[in-house]
Amino acid sequence: MGGRYIDLHTHTIASDGTDSPAVLAANAVRAGVAAIALTDHDTLDGLDEAGEAAAAAGLEFIRGCELAVQDDEFGELHILGLWIPARPSARMQNALRDIRDRRAARNKAIIRRLADLGMSLEPEALAAVAGRGTLGRPHMAEAMKRKGYVSGVREAFERYLGWGKAAFVPRDLYTPREAIGLLADEGATVVLAHPCLNREMDREGLDDRLSEFRALGLCAIEAYHSAHDARQTRMCVSLAKKHGLLLSGGSDYHGATKPGISLAVGKGGLRVPYLLLERMRAHRRGAGLWV
Ligand code: AMP
Ligand code: ZN
Ligand code: FE
Ligand code: FE
Repeated sequence: MGGRYIDLHTHTIASDGTDSPAVLAANAVRAGVAAIALTDHDTLDGLDEAGEAAAAAGLEFIRGCELAVQDDEFGELHILGLWIPARPSARMQNALRDIRDRRAARNKAIIRRLADLGMSLEPEALAAVAGRGTLGRPHMAEAMKRKGYVSGVREAFERYLGWGKAAFVPRDLYTPREAIGLLADEGATVVLAHPCLNREMDREGLDDRLSEFRALGLCAIEAYHSAHDARQTRMCVSLAKKHGLLLSGGSDYHGATKPGISLAVGKGGLRVPYLLLERMRAHRRGAGLWV
């Protein structure tokens, strides 16, 4: 199917993106992709709306989500679940609620630290940025900018919100075992997201984790991603082959939250072939799972 492309990693206002789910679907059609997955952080809230808009537009749609996990050695890693069921189990719903509760507790702690530093962020100021989405540090950074505490989002992270900075509070995250197990038990296709975004993890580290995670239910690796260069993509492809993992790819589009990243093409050069989706579907059919 030469010339057909997909984007299996996107975000909306249901988490920290800026498109509504319906607008995301419309933008994906405009970008010319054949299929998208919506993978908002810690929530399934946008999936119904995006799925309906996609169906109406003839765009193939995969229900997904993105979970952050804490690796003992490498710190935060991200896991995507693709083909999340339309009726998730009670266990899944409870887990997502627990994850969001933990995030809310952490947000509170960050906001308290910022207040101690003389930068109060009232609930209204945050709501004006985040709407009803999953509140995270990017929203706080934007709110700090709007209140004049920093010149921009970049400064907010570099001085206050980034890892180890004055207002940084770590998240109490799931372990890889918990998150991969949760998603795999749900019948999702479990993908290690953008592995090369983790600065601590070199080829050898990734190699180790792929053996370990595969045993827990990992199915694919996001080799194609806006933040991966050609060398990193090749490394992921070669390790996928070694471990018998499928390949996935997506832009990690967030709308205006990440202005340099467009649907389908990422920073400009990304192309994720439709063939990867066909392979994932073939694998799922072979495992007796829905596609
Ligand atoms: P949170 O989920 O609240 O921990 O926020 C994580 C998000 O913050 C990531 O997805 C990034 O988009 C953003 N982020 C993290 N570090 C930085 C940074 N140094 N500069 C800009 N954005 C960042
Ligand atoms: Zn995000
Ligand atoms: Fe991520
Ligand atoms: Fe993402």
